[in-house]
Amino acid sequence: MGDIRGFLKVKRQAEKYRPVCERIKDYQEVMLLRNDKDSEEQAGRCMDCGTPFCHWGCPIGNYIPEWNDLVFRGQWQKAFQLLDATNNFPEITGRLCPALCEYACVLGINDDPVTTLENELNIVEYAFGAGLIKPQPPKKRTGKEIAIIGSGPAGLACADQLNQAGHLVVVFEKDEQIGGMLRYGIPDFKLQKQILDRRLEILKKEGIVFVSEMFVGVDYKVEKLSKDFAAICLATGSRVPRDLKIEGRELKGIHFALDYLIQANKRVSGEKIAVDKLIDAKDKKVVVIGGGDTGADCVGTAHRQGAKCVVQIELLAKPPECRTPDYPWPKYPLLCKTAASHEEGGIREWSVSTKKFSGRNGEVKKLLCSRVTQERADREFEIEADLVILALGFLHPEHNGLVKDLDLELDTKGNIKTDDSYMTKVLGIFSAGDMHRGQSLIVWAISEGRKAAHYIDKYLMGGTYLPKM
Ligand SMILES: Cc1cc2nc3c(=O)[nH]c(=O)nc-3n(C[C@H](O)[C@H](O)[C@H](O)COP(=O)(O)OP(=O)(O)OC[C@H]3O[C@@H](n4cnc5c(N)ncnc54)[C@H](O)[C@@H]3O)c2cc1C
Ligand code: SF4
Repeated sequence: MGDIRGFLKVKRQAEKYRPVCERIKDYQEVMLLRNDKDSEEQAGRCMDCGTPFCHWGCPIGNYIPEWNDLVFRGQWQKAFQLLDATNNFPEITGRLCPALCEYACVLGINDDPVTTLENELNIVEYAFGAGLIKPQPPKKRTGKEIAIIGSGPAGLACADQLNQAGHLVVVFEKDEQIGGMLRYGIPDFKLQKQILDRRLEILKKEGIVFVSEMFVGVDYKVEKLSKDFAAICLATGSRVPRDLKIEGRELKGIHFALDYLIQANKRVSGEKIAVDKLIDAKDKKVVVIGGGDTGADCVGTAHRQGAKCVVQIELLAKPPECRTPDYPWPKYPLLCKTAASHEEGGIREWSVSTKKFSGRNGEVKKLLCSRVTQERADREFEIEADLVILALGFLHPEHNGLVKDLDLELDTKGNIKTDDSYMTKVLGIFSAGDMHRGQSLIVWAISEGRKAAHYIDKYLMGGTYLPKM
């Protein structure tokens, strides 16, 4: 612990964003990178607790107090080495993680927690800037070939670990480009795709083979895959969306969030979308149904596309601003979160149930809603809309294709069931990420990918040096 009075002298510096009037006109990242001097001061707030609950709160077990101390002392290179030991993609988690660690920070009990998320981002961006992150292919190869199906954070983390262990890793992806939700789900204003490409370039130079536009189960049959590879890790995500099957659902202008966001991301990357397929918010009255993070991404995207107005509605009641007894420290609490997208405009409403959609000439024009707390006729109201986005979450992975062909076992929620070593009921076939855990977070996908890699290496070699975490 560098400065034993650091937390008494220095206040938490809140994250800084580009001004709304500027950022709303483009798709560049909204978050500003903090300077190194400020990070050193902020890292000095870490109390280096005897029992670091932040470390417990982080799904990949980042060595948070240790690297905070090194940052405080200006030893950035060493801080990076420690961060790199547990996290394959800190430049992604440092931008997008909801910072589970900060909710478990001991300082957070009666003060503001340490800015761990930003410290993490500063460490990794320092390392990129200083040329510390270079391709390091493994010195020896084992001769074993492993297929990873799906190139989201779970597949990429698993591939990175197994490649470092000397195996030849091939990542198959059905989309045109690599990255899963990082590429097509998450908007550029949260994660510019150059950040992802910078990492992918390194992984390629380290020897991982990426095969895009390869729909495993369709273009590449499972039986052949099992013969061609010594082990397989399925990491195809969880993308079956929850629908809202009410009157008027068939009207034009009602879309699933991911269909909208995937298209918006493709357009930002320069891809042209056929006019009859275009989902565009320009000059439209937009209603986003679903109050979560995906909904917030739709709000930010709609504003950038020039929506006339945006309303986001949520069925559940507004969560509290502070912890309640149901979520005592150090648990990750259910709180009302204001995303950067919410600062950019629009209206948010909670406890609203959508009864039906109505329209004209086959196009959606209105939602009939009611307050959930008091379902009386006088509490019913209408919202005008010519674009409705359904952001109601995801049910489970796609069952048709791979899952059915392999006759994999499912858990009660429809996700892939494995044993404790991430192996499905089929010998040599493993599963990780949202497909296994259910729709979750990037940091959990990385954690799952790393764990699956540990067990795959053990399965192939009889033992492993890869960490379990
Ligand atoms: C809009 C949105 C915003 C989000 N924002 C955040 C955030 O800010 N922070 C956060 O922590 N989490 C966020 N998440 C959640 C996070 O993106 C996911 O938890 C994470 O990407 C899951 O990783 P994964 O590797 O398991 O799956 P995915 O990222 O979904 O990747 C699975 C990949 O498998 C491919 N695939 C599927 N089937 C096949 C097949 N048969 N053959 C070949 N390839 C196949 C898919 O095309 C896809 O590329 C967000 C999710 C969404 C939808
Ligand atoms: S990955 Fe997330 S939980 Fe872990 S240290 Fe970074 S911000 Fe915290």
